[in-house]
Amino acid sequence: DGVTLERVEEYVWEIPQEGEMNAPARVLASEELLDQIADDKTLQQLKNSTQLPGVQKYAICMPDGHQGYGFPVGGVAGIDAEDGCISPGAVGFDINCGVRMMTTNLTYEDVQGHEEELVESLFANIPSGLGGGGVVESGVETVEEILDRGVEWALDEGYAVEDDLAHCEDEGRRPDADPDAVSQKSKDRGKNQIGSLGSGNHFLEVQRVTDVFREGVADSYGLSEDQIVVLIHCGSRGLGHQVCTEYTREVEQAHPELLEQLPDKELAAAPAGSQLAEEYYGAMCAAINYAWVNRQLIMHRTRKVFERVFDRSWEEMEMDLLYDVAHNIAKKEAHEVDGEERELYVHRKGATRAFPAGREEVPSAYRDVGQPVIIPGSMGAGSYVLRGGESSMETTFGSTAHGAGRTMSRTQAKDEFWGEDIQDDLREQKVYVKAQSGATVAEEAPGVYKDVDEVVRVSDELGIGDTVARTFPVCNIKG
Ligand code: 5GP
Ligand code: MN
Ligand code: MN
Repeated sequence: DGVTLERVEEYVWEIPQEGEMNAPARVLASEELLDQIADDKTLQQLKNSTQLPGVQKYAICMPDGHQGYGFPVGGVAGIDAEDGCISPGAVGFDINCGVRMMTTNLTYEDVQGHEEELVESLFANIPSGLGGGGVVESGVETVEEILDRGVEWALDEGYAVEDDLAHCEDEGRRPDADPDAVSQKSKDRGKNQIGSLGSGNHFLEVQRVTDVFREGVADSYGLSEDQIVVLIHCGSRGLGHQVCTEYTREVEQAHPELLEQLPDKELAAAPAGSQLAEEYYGAMCAAINYAWVNRQLIMHRTRKVFERVFDRSWEEMEMDLLYDVAHNIAKKEAHEVDGEERELYVHRKGATRAFPAGREEVPSAYRDVGQPVIIPGSMGAGSYVLRGGESSMETTFGSTAHGAGRTMSRTQAKDEFWGEDIQDDLREQKVYVKAQSGATVAEEAPGVYKDVDEVVRVSDELGIGDTVARTFPVCNIKG
């Protein structure tokens, strides 16, 4: 269609600035990945996003990019926080969807023979699916406290230890959160979902480490070959979705003049400095806190399940949080643009922060080696731990990919795959999957995703995220 791409260097492609664009756009991909990225509306959406006022340098598509609501999943935009804008659609509906990885001192051998019991017990104890409740069901006051205080609330309630906070992005709390900016309806939706996976693409996976690529960094992260780790992927559930839905509508109505400048209504944005921009930012930060508590409570339950299955305390099994990182988020961050430090709303939608060694935002335990980046693949492929690369600040506003990225829609996937067949295939690879429905398994079949090894290779080659270790699934539960 109407999108021209020029090659800048290996793995870097540019959509040159023209017409109404406020900046060029860049796609970071190998030819193989670019073919898949160019297959849907991703490139057009990326180009459209450069019409947002205040876009700095270039809008960027990560190697796992695919089309999303208005802005690609795998998209990064650094937008001036003083005279630019903030766009709920460029954050995503699942605010602070993200991943956390917990390490253990168990080896694959310790777990073999227990997979069935483990997967059943995880499925029985970790709420998932559309109904299903949460680990905690509470009134609105508790929801408000969670929105305000994030994982600090979980610490006070005995669902977390100090170390968990130290190993979470922002220590599990965004101080900019404004619970008053979150509607009653959103809060109501949050009451019975605290500690729940949700459905579809969200999962909990027990994995074994199959490869270590950077020994020194792996040591700092507490990772070694054959070790068992747990990966949790979920977000802010109905509460975050409600926040995004309501603010998208409000922004459309309150700022029609900005909307008219945009080629796609789904990019609706609030001008920086407007009341609505402040309110959305406060509400989004509150939903971010909710999602961190959500993943914390799931991790807490997981520790309990392991205690029962392996008949040892979680402390004995050293089930420590390696890191928790968001991949649907916008944050005010200071970045260098044209040799000048500027405050930006960095929108990362289906993209992971990947700050290198030295940045003060990186937890002290990792400041010398760089921030852990967790990139899931699929239930039939590897997942990766990377570390923030030296080039990330310059190339991607400190970001890299967030997954393998879809190559087909859920509807297409259900035509293409049959859940039970997929489950049988996986069992042959010694992967134990338990899901709410066969349809979920089909929608998330390994074949619907791009090649995660290739995505991660590009990230590593560009120096935005360097590979540290690779894992492979052992047990997987999903909603
Ligand atoms: P998203 O946040 O875009 O829904 O998903 C993030 C990534 O998770 C996807 O791009 C995909 O690579 C990965 N993924 C989806 N399902 C699974 C799963 O069951 N196991 C693992 N390890 N990764 C998955
Ligand atoms: Mn999500
Ligand atoms: Mn996600």
